[in-house]
Amino acid sequence: MRLLIMGPPGAGKGTQAAVIGAHYDIPAISTGNIFRLAITKRTPLGERIKRIIADGGYVPDSLTLRVVVQRLEEEDTKGGWLLDGFPRTVGQVKALDAELDGHGYQLDAVISLTADETALVERLLKRAEIENRPDDNEETIRTRLEVYHEQTDPLIDVYRERGLLIEVDGMGEVDEVSERVLAALAEKLGR
Ligand code: ADP
Repeated sequence: MRLLIMGPPGAGKGTQAAVIGAHYDIPAISTGNIFRLAITKRTPLGERIKRIIADGGYVPDSLTLRVVVQRLEEEDTKGGWLLDGFPRTVGQVKALDAELDGHGYQLDAVISLTADETALVERLLKRAEIENRPDDNEETIRTRLEVYHEQTDPLIDVYRERGLLIEVDGMGEVDEVSERVLAALAEKLGR
């Protein structure tokens, strides 16, 4: 099973990715988490990207791709995976296509979590208080939403045209959203 989960910042991708990963017994791989860990550990990658992330921009494709390809070589990915927060640019879609082709793999579905903008900003500001993420302040949040609309929104149509897209309303309680996501996946995949 090979899945993607997409959605604007604050839509709850990470939370739902964990639920889906556990349900299908596949690793949920978040580029955002990999980047944050690199920053915390002060690795060379972390040093290069910390400013970009704190400002709400996207990490360059070249660096992002290296991280993803490396992660997808690990043993636990053999039976499938769920990518959370990747791809985010047209270039990343192309690179993922090539990576899949190289292994003879195909995507099974792409989940798009939707949410209204006011709720997103509210959620992100609340998370800023709880998690102390350096990129969760009001100015950076606006930048992240802008960058998302400009660079990542177009990917939704790409996957819709390929017949892979499952759109799920991400508003409401976490459990409600999980039920919706799992029901939509079960319908699409037949399992
Ligand atoms: P959110 O979607 O809530 O912004 P993430 O944890 O998915 O949170 O990502 C946090 C930050 O990490 C992004 O704002 C971006 O700077 C960087 N990032 C994550 N994934 C990618 C990616 N695929 N390409 C470029 N930058 C990324």
